[in-house]
Amino acid sequence: MGTTGFSNLYRQQYINQMASQQFDLLVIGGGITGCGIALDAALRGIKVALIEKSDFASGTSSRSTKLIHGGLRYLKQLEFKLVRDVGSERAVVHRNARHVVIPEKMLLPIVEGGSLGKLPTSVGLLVYDLLAGVKAEERRRMLDRHETHKAEPLLNTQGLLGGGLYFEYRTDDSRLVIELAKSAYANGALLLNYAQSTKFIYDSAGKITGATVIDHNSGNSFDIRAKVIVNACGPWVDLLRKEDNSLKGKRLQLTKGVHLVFPYEKLPLKQAAYFDVGDGRMIFAIPRDNITYVGTTDTVYNESIDNPNCTKADADYLLKAINHMFPSAVLQVKDIQSTWAGLRPLIHEDGKSTSELSRKDEIMVSSSGLISIAGGKLTGYRLMAEKIVDLTEKKLGKKYGSASTKNFRLSGGEFENETEFQSTLRAFIEEGKKQGIATENISRWFYRYGKNTSQIIKLVQAIEPEGLAAAELIYTIENEAVLTLNDFVIRRTGKLFFDNPGTEKQLNFLIATLAKVFNASPAIAAAMLIAAQREFATVTSLG
Ligand SMILES: Cc1cc2nc3c(=O)[nH]c(=O)nc-3n(C[C@H](O)[C@H](O)[C@H](O)COP(=O)(O)OP(=O)(O)OC[C@H]3O[C@@H](n4cnc5c(N)ncnc54)[C@H](O)[C@@H]3O)c2cc1C
Repeated sequence: MGTTGFSNLYRQQYINQMASQQFDLLVIGGGITGCGIALDAALRGIKVALIEKSDFASGTSSRSTKLIHGGLRYLKQLEFKLVRDVGSERAVVHRNARHVVIPEKMLLPIVEGGSLGKLPTSVGLLVYDLLAGVKAEERRRMLDRHETHKAEPLLNTQGLLGGGLYFEYRTDDSRLVIELAKSAYANGALLLNYAQSTKFIYDSAGKITGATVIDHNSGNSFDIRAKVIVNACGPWVDLLRKEDNSLKGKRLQLTKGVHLVFPYEKLPLKQAAYFDVGDGRMIFAIPRDNITYVGTTDTVYNESIDNPNCTKADADYLLKAINHMFPSAVLQVKDIQSTWAGLRPLIHEDGKSTSELSRKDEIMVSSSGLISIAGGKLTGYRLMAEKIVDLTEKKLGKKYGSASTKNFRLSGGEFENETEFQSTLRAFIEEGKKQGIATENISRWFYRYGKNTSQIIKLVQAIEPEGLAAAELIYTIENEAVLTLNDFVIRRTGKLFFDNPGTEKQLNFLIATLAKVFNASPAIAAAMLIAAQREFATVTSLG
């Protein structure tokens, strides 16, 4: 635990440790919720293990809008406490992971006949800032028609009345999860991906005492014992409650949200925007690197939890909204570079539409003692973790160390302040120049790996694109529990969505590097290549 890099090169060692002792806490599910809990518990000195059936963040936590936001729209639903909690939490998440949580100005256009009037928007944004405790200099600024058009020249000028500019934070959801997992591991937690809980173990009094786990890498099963078990399985939460015979009362209502990715030149926005669709919903359009992504939808979902995808109807809905707001773009299905679809694990409420369902988190404790947590947001993960670990301590009947995540810098984000963050970036750029590595590459790594970029620079053996990709891949195998090519191209780097054509050309080379590090057989390497190609095909076609 924590003495080697967080790597599947030590997989069997992790499994032996998991199978041979009793833990205080077993967390099932390696999304933001589960990994946040593992870190909080480890920092308090609780002996914790976490298992994830696929890769870390492979569920909803890599398929969000990728914003650390206070949820402006929850103001409309009068969820003041939710807005205050997650709003003020944004600054905490930013401070602790500066490299993956970046301030982003958001433009809210106000249009004739839209659901936002000028005065209500001005008051609403101010209330939002005040609830979230935003610094005076970063509070919302209202713009007139001319200023709004200047801020984003592609906006439809017909009916444009003005706009509001306010602060949110952009993140990389799956990187935030992996930095949490790495930090938890470094502080004593044991975490394993591709390990699925298949059955619970109970004592003679019917109390839950462990889980049988299948290792998807070897096909072997093993048991993990723990005093407290937390089900943090997001959209899968109810499947585990069913397994525990405790699916009573509150249930999940899954809703699907999709995003479309366009090459930047097809939708060259100067500015991220959050705008009215006309049916009471609002969507985001966010420029990032060489692309612009747009989302999301919100539709009831009752199909396979493992494979949500973007349908033609989903794409048409978003295309219509974008083309209305940015008419000169004239986007079509063929312009879509890639898509992703995620499932919101919301709590069902009779008579409410999908967008009216609360995004609050909910904790359910069964008579066997299984603790389940669902709902919530990326943004509030730390507060959710604190609640769950407080409850765990209560069940364990012992007070461990106090919760210390508020001021804990995540792996890669160990910066005192913004000045140190910027000076470290400059120092890495200088170091890169000495080795002939382009500033653009260093900067991209820095906003993925933060301070750990120095370790990747050390691994560079050749400065051609393949050499740089190999250094990055090796770092993630040795330190970020990469087991398959998809872990790397989807969750550790986001290359599949954001750098799709360039990465596809590198697949053969990447798989050869990965196979060499793991000493994988040609058959396994070939299977991984097929899986990666299948993923590429999925994100570029409509289901
Ligand atoms: C379209 C969309 C946009 C969103 N945008 C935002 C946003 O911009 N900002 C924000 O703050 N929030 C956003 N959210 C909400 C946020 O993404 C989710 O609240 C959060 O990711 C849920 O995380 P989780 O860990 O609870 O679930 P998940 O990330 O789904 O994790 C659960 C994990 O459990 C694993 N699992 C399941 N069964 C088992 C088993 N038997 N054994 C082991 N592991 C198992 C799964 O593989 C999965 O990885 C968005 C959600 C959606 C759908």
